[in-house]
Amino acid sequence: SARLSKVLQLTLAVIKPDAVAHPLMLEALHQLILDNNFGIVRCKDLVWRRQDSERFYAEHSGRFFYQRLVEFMSSGPMRAYILARKDAISHWRELMGPTKVFRARFNSPASIRGQFGLTDTRNTTHGSDSLESAQREITFFFPDFCADEWMKKEEPLFR
Ligand code: ADP
Ligand code: MG
Repeated sequence: SARLSKVLQLTLAVIKPDAVAHPLMLEALHQLILDNNFGIVRCKDLVWRRQDSERFYAEHSGRFFYQRLVEFMSSGPMRAYILARKDAISHWRELMGPTKVFRARFNSPASIRGQFGLTDTRNTTHGSDSLESAQREITFFFPDFCADEWMKKEEPLFR
């Protein structure tokens, strides 16, 4: 989509409740974000109500793991980031590793999920998977954020 710059891309990253629950994980993941040359555009800690969780993951509403997922994502504090970087979406997903813990452990042992994922559901982090989902998810977590204005005013500072 034309609303996000081709050079500097925005993505939504979330540190899920299983990771926030561990005292060292927030700091470690925050540092990993900085080490990978992401600009932190916005950052906030929040707790979802069950209905936030249901709405965010509506696309999975028919799946066998939906109830488990919805309950988990509203079980405790999370941290959400808007991150900026070249190829931010694919780069953050690469750092996270595969969704399922078995694949993450064996195919991408150095990834975030490969190292720290607990189960297929409690898998430490979320990342947008396309330009369209990045836009939707950024708005979901940060309703007041205007990508166009940010690009105009602050993007140069992040290059
Ligand atoms: P991703 O987070 O890698 O984009 P999906 O969008 O497919 O993965 O799924 C959303 C979330 O639902 C996953 O991160 C995980 O928490 C949970 N989930 C996905 N697949 C499964 C599964 N097979 N069993 C249990 N939980 C799952
Ligand atoms: Mg997904």
